[in-house]
Amino acid sequence: MGAEYEFIKLCKEKVLSGQDITEHEAQRLVNVSDESLQFLSDAANEITRKISGHIVDVESLINAKKGKCQEDCSFCSQSAFYKSGIDTYKLLPSDTIVQNALVSKLDGVKSFCLVCAWRGPTQSDFDRICNIIKEINDKVGIEINCSLGFIDESMALRLKELKVKRYNHNLEASRSFFSKICSTHTYDERMNTNLIIKKSGLELCCGGIIGMGETRMQRLELGLDLAKLDPEECPINILVPQKGTPLEMQPKISLPEILRTIAVFRFLMPKTILKIAGGREVYLSNEEEKALLGGANGIITGGYLTIGGNSPAKDFEMISKIGLEA
Ligand code: SF4
Repeated sequence: MGAEYEFIKLCKEKVLSGQDITEHEAQRLVNVSDESLQFLSDAANEITRKISGHIVDVESLINAKKGKCQEDCSFCSQSAFYKSGIDTYKLLPSDTIVQNALVSKLDGVKSFCLVCAWRGPTQSDFDRICNIIKEINDKVGIEINCSLGFIDESMALRLKELKVKRYNHNLEASRSFFSKICSTHTYDERMNTNLIIKKSGLELCCGGIIGMGETRMQRLELGLDLAKLDPEECPINILVPQKGTPLEMQPKISLPEILRTIAVFRFLMPKTILKIAGGREVYLSNEEEKALLGGANGIITGGYLTIGGNSPAKDFEMISKIGLEA
């Protein structure tokens, strides 16, 4: 254990001095013994606090277009391929979306993410979304992020012009696991969209889902690819198996494995906002502090795309209880 502690310390000092850890070092870190896990989490927490301070980034989102997606991502209840029984709707009217942004702002939430379930927007849907963004800018004044699927360069530039801060497009899973969870598009298509986002000058929000049956090394593989993209934000979703989807019966990933992943992602992406997203309330209900004191420094509040979540008030209380600030 002494040698492991020394190794973790060495990696922490390397990261804090501005250097990247190597792939081999990341492999050793992710495989430390269970006895060293707390020490690993503490080191990840120290990196987070020294680089990003005590702030927790709190974001809310709206599912602006729900269900009937033509893609077949096996974790997703919004795919038209599966009988998940969720309610579905077309792009919501602008009034509803603007009102939601306003409520988020009044709740003290810092940023508002507009999410649509589809492969990518048609030009007319995209134009409608641009008008909604203008309205939120004029009437609400909250930081806006978007997650609209595959977009091209001209769309990315248009969003940048409209002062959208960040664009979310997750890699979802590692390259070696991706074909197990999706057949209608490829890992490279996702990667390419992320490169378009970066080129446009929008901030990048890119992460994935853990607990879909991938191995620990495949989780690390995802982390290494994400680190190469150097996203401003990285959401870590934890699979909540959805009725009717191919992953409905997927066994739950263990809490130590979640904490191990968060800690190592912090070593790989020291400056990124690491956001614990979907699945947080299910897996971490009594242990959220362990994640926020183990490398994570962001949360989604108020519910997700197809599952509910904590209220912002409850989340703000939890954050201040552990000595952090929203
Ligand atoms: S994850 Fe996105 S692209 Fe995949 S099925 Fe769900 S909504 Fe569609």
